[in-house]
Amino acid sequence: MADKLTAVKGMNDLLPADSHAWEWLEGLVRDLMRRHGYRNIRTPIVEPTALFVRGLGEVTDIVEKEMYSFEDRLNGDSLTLRPEATAGVVRATVEHNLLYEGGKRMYYMGPMFRHERPQKGRYRQFHQIGAEALGFAGAEVDAELILMAHRLWQELGLTDVRLEINSLGQPAERAQHRAALIAHFEAHADALDEDARRRLHSNPLRILDSKNPAMQSVVESAPKLIDHLGAASRSHFEAVRAILEANGVTDRISARLVRGMDYYNLTVFEFITDRLGSQGTVCGGGRYDYLIEQVGGKPAPAVGWALGVERVLELAREAGLWPEAPAPDVYAIVPDANPLPQVMSLLQHLRGAGVAVQMHAAQGEGMGSMKSQFKKADASGARYALVFGEQEIRNGQVAIKALRDGQGAQRLADISRWAEWAPSLRATRAGVEPA
Ligand code: ATP
Ligand code: MG
Repeated sequence: MADKLTAVKGMNDLLPADSHAWEWLEGLVRDLMRRHGYRNIRTPIVEPTALFVRGLGEVTDIVEKEMYSFEDRLNGDSLTLRPEATAGVVRATVEHNLLYEGGKRMYYMGPMFRHERPQKGRYRQFHQIGAEALGFAGAEVDAELILMAHRLWQELGLTDVRLEINSLGQPAERAQHRAALIAHFEAHADALDEDARRRLHSNPLRILDSKNPAMQSVVESAPKLIDHLGAASRSHFEAVRAILEANGVTDRISARLVRGMDYYNLTVFEFITDRLGSQGTVCGGGRYDYLIEQVGGKPAPAVGWALGVERVLELAREAGLWPEAPAPDVYAIVPDANPLPQVMSLLQHLRGAGVAVQMHAAQGEGMGSMKSQFKKADASGARYALVFGEQEIRNGQVAIKALRDGQGAQRLADISRWAEWAPSLRATRAGVEPA
């Protein structure tokens, strides 16, 4: 046999045993977005490298060391697998002039790629769900997005997620703070690691985002950006917080919270849990009022967030919130292959009537014994077996046998009158009812 090929390191397969939990989350998100007026956007997985270099900032972890970039051999273009989706959404917004008639609220779901050291909660292909509101300047939209994420935790049933928030102010305020920051770090140069020393003059704010435990105290004692905010920035921040407070959402100001990309200004926030070890940030976002013009668009404000699907689902698993695997309503037992055309046309009618039907199918010679078919029916989790025995079929009937509640009970039903009895086979469990 040929050597087995395996997936790329840090990139995972999502197998059928777990995919229903992803669908559960995605379903909740779609409905949440609908209720908040956010529409789906899907942008390419590959973008010009320049988009990320320009958008995220050259001196950032992502651009310096995490991007999957390659040359398109056919034309020499430099391309990159998207490490995040905000830059692509902004590019698409500008390219298609989406803001010409006012602001746009959008959301996306999909894979992102970062060349990181793989570990629990940190992968090279991972998935984000994100929401972006472009063209809106007011604090109410920052708050709307935060409240929307908060509601998602509630609807998922997650309780151990806390909100940290900060303001990065405006460029002029940042410039002031930057000088103070450089002076502080220069005075403690011996405490800086290599990354920090390199970034001291190019991007000192990034040092605050350091995950190096040895640097925690020099980072904690650094001058705080929030102390350099002018009146307008301060009042924007307070306006966001007042709305959160009115909605019973508690936040904690974290002066160190600066986020990993350079495009943020004013409000930034993260939702963090202590239940996932050091990969505890499940969602992060903020305002990015200057990104649109940086990508070549007419200046317009914007704000958004992205959550890590793997981390959110891991947290749900930890909390015992893993949804039940889906089971068919009905498993069709077909002892003999001859009546299959008639059997399958009934099954199609049932499916049309909203019944989830799994049919026994041959896995070798013949359809298999009744015993083995019943075993499969049980394992499928179906609540009923439809048994298409020779005698029943001859009478135009099928036997419906209960496999769960009232196990063993059996009745005969007329095949031609399927429309009358099909609805009684449909699941009525919450969330399983067909839409
Ligand atoms: P971290 O601080 O953990 O590196 P980040 O600040 O780089 O996260 P963002 O760019 O803000 O992350 O992405 C938003 C969310 O996407 C994160 O909060 C996290 O849940 C998730 N995420 C980021 N990188 C990864 C990864 N390599 N694997 C899995 N999830 C990730
Ligand atoms: Mg990161």
